[in-house]
Amino acid sequence: MLLTTCSYIPLEIPLALGIPARRLIAKPAGPQADPYLPRDFCPYARGVLSQVSADEASRAHLGVAVAGSCDAMRRVYDALRHYAPGIRSYYLDVPRTQDQDAVSYYAGVLRSFARELAAGYPGAPPEKEWPERLRQAAEELNFLRRALLTAYPTAEPVPNSSGSGEKPLRACATVTEWVELCLALNEALALPGPSRPHRLQAVEAVLRQRTAPAALRGPAVLLTGSFLLDATVPAAIEATGFSIAAVDSCLGWRSLKVMLPEAEGDIFSRLAAAYLRKPPCPRLLVREARRRWLDALLFTEGKAAKVDGVVYFVPKFCDHGYYESVDVKDRLSEYGLPFLLLEGEYGAGLTAQTRTRLAAFRELLEERRRAQGALEAKEE
Ligand code: SF4
Repeated sequence: MLLTTCSYIPLEIPLALGIPARRLIAKPAGPQADPYLPRDFCPYARGVLSQVSADEASRAHLGVAVAGSCDAMRRVYDALRHYAPGIRSYYLDVPRTQDQDAVSYYAGVLRSFARELAAGYPGAPPEKEWPERLRQAAEELNFLRRALLTAYPTAEPVPNSSGSGEKPLRACATVTEWVELCLALNEALALPGPSRPHRLQAVEAVLRQRTAPAALRGPAVLLTGSFLLDATVPAAIEATGFSIAAVDSCLGWRSLKVMLPEAEGDIFSRLAAAYLRKPPCPRLLVREARRRWLDALLFTEGKAAKVDGVVYFVPKFCDHGYYESVDVKDRLSEYGLPFLLLEGEYGAGLTAQTRTRLAAFRELLEERRRAQGALEAKEE
């Protein structure tokens, strides 16, 4: 089993080599992380370390692919190499730009990663079979990502509908439910062996177990930030009476809008381009591209706002998130759109502080709506 720590690491590669793999969505850190990382440290980094070192029994079958996404994750890689030698750890240097040089460099990183992975797994196919295997893995992941995008409660048009004849997932009633579905798909990817229909069935079972609550209404917000740690934040937002127009995070659209196109050419270069040029996260040094992506989520073409405000969630101590939140806040103030910065660790959505701040933000947005309505009525 291979666990990956960043949405810039293509799951297509382990899947093509026959290695079950999923994104590591860590749980709150246990005491296992304490000897290696300080307590005042990124909760994701601490969670990763504690999770992979907790299960002694499965260590022999575990691999962890760590992206050099930030200094905290580099320390996780160091700690794994030095203190958990039984775990196979891989390091991927993910570029911070999207230009052609970055794509060429990252294609080389991905090829080396595939070779390193294959060398450790006796069942891996020979290198000459990789292009076809990668093409099939990409087709499956394209399909599953499209299925999740279609299941979003306020589904937007999805590019290149599959036309495969398979029944799409039903739309979720809430974004909280949708986030849980994303987590379920992530787990299903790691099931050894099953084919695409089986993975979808496993995911659909999650939906069937739920009794859908009535669709939520209320001020619409964009939920954005760096890494969204768990489902408690969207749950708290919806429970406070907001509707979430879009989720822009590692667990949301940034990870799903990666479609590898059918095309000729070196498959690693195509993978590198598809991943590096997906909607950028706050870590990438592509300020304009990030702005364009957020603008597309926030505004219609005439710059009318699609949302009433923005909730920006930063996992504690995440420098990328804090730096970018200032930029986003400034940008929104140009358009008079309110902004709320939430920070926390796993389970942040369960805290009274988060819920109180969300309730105050909702009052602010409703007050603005009332004031705008009164102004429009006066002008008529
Ligand atoms: S926020 Fe960006 S750098 Fe961090 S894990 Fe997600 S995709 Fe990777």
